[in-house]
Amino acid sequence: MTTSSVFDLALPGIQKLIPYTPGKPIEELERELGLSEIIKLASNENPLGPSPRVTDAIKQALPEITRYPDGNGFKLKTVLAEKYGVELNQITLGNGSNEILELVARTFLTPDLNVVFSQHAFAVYPLVTQAVGAQAQEVAARNYGHDLTAMRAHINDKTRLVFIANPNNPTGTLLTADVLEEFIASLPAHVICVLDEAYYEYVDPAQRADSIAWLARYPNLLITRTFSKAYGLAGLRVGFGLASAEMSDLLNRVRQPFNNNALALVAAETALQDQDYLQHSVATNNAGMQLLTEVFDTLGLSPIPSAGNFVSVDFGRDAQPIYQALLKKGVIVRPVANYGMPTFLRISIGTDAENRFFIQALRDVLNHV
Ligand SMILES: *Cc1c(COP(=O)(O)O)cnc(C)c1O
Repeated sequence: MTTSSVFDLALPGIQKLIPYTPGKPIEELERELGLSEIIKLASNENPLGPSPRVTDAIKQALPEITRYPDGNGFKLKTVLAEKYGVELNQITLGNGSNEILELVARTFLTPDLNVVFSQHAFAVYPLVTQAVGAQAQEVAARNYGHDLTAMRAHINDKTRLVFIANPNNPTGTLLTADVLEEFIASLPAHVICVLDEAYYEYVDPAQRADSIAWLARYPNLLITRTFSKAYGLAGLRVGFGLASAEMSDLLNRVRQPFNNNALALVAAETALQDQDYLQHSVATNNAGMQLLTEVFDTLGLSPIPSAGNFVSVDFGRDAQPIYQALLKKGVIVRPVANYGMPTFLRISIGTDAENRFFIQALRDVLNHV
């Protein structure tokens, strides 16, 4: 037997895998710089904190944590089914919607198949593709958004999945409903379209696609949504997939039986019914987006118009020194060089106070860097 390192034993796709880079945690910057006031606008979390109704529901549920959670998530699925007008058997619950993205890759991909997604699209798409050894087909973006014509042209007999983030992260770009449905309708039956709508709740209602209605027409469509963003539960990890009963059955076979913990299930169920919190979150975001957009304009900076709760801004030069200088002022934003955008920083919209703290820091930094 030839000697080989453990590394050599791993699947080829995993050997080449570049791990996801999360936003810098607040505690880490505290340790490094000993700053007292730190704001994090780096992971598109809801800046308002959790809804009090959710924290109350979690407290109520605490005595139950010695029991395994409901592996079918019956209560949460019932509320989701009611809200979205789907059947329970069309829902797959995930440990964050990231898990749904992973489940779909594990359910449908083999190393001889390929996956189509856009340049500057969410980093998890290449990750889940490579982890199962399938081939990634990244298609050049147009104006930082998905070029659906070019993506369609890249689809061939060996394509099994296409990922679309709408709005996209980190660019914030939004595809119109017409264009998107036309693309989905054009797909051959052997291609599954994963429509990642993590920021759906932030999209202006007049611009939203009624994507759930499409499920009845396209059995190859999987929609993913999350409780991590507008619902304010990023730390609990709950997302879900909506698809045909047939596809959902397959995804649920692969899913671990207790992938959502008991407190997360209760929290998500409560959050879904707290529409006041949701509306307050969206209104806070809209006001913050407007403020930041105006300030970028006065500073002569170019943000990409964003439909999400974050905005990517082009500084026209290597953004890393600006990122570092902002850190020293206690502001954590997100570099996006790993998305092929080295001159940009992505800023999550914060509370009004956080946005103003960021603006002051940015003004100071731009005067000195
Ligand atoms: C944040 C985000 C998700 C959601 O991740 P969770 O696992 O649900 O926390 C999915 N897709 C995109 C594009 C995102 O930005």
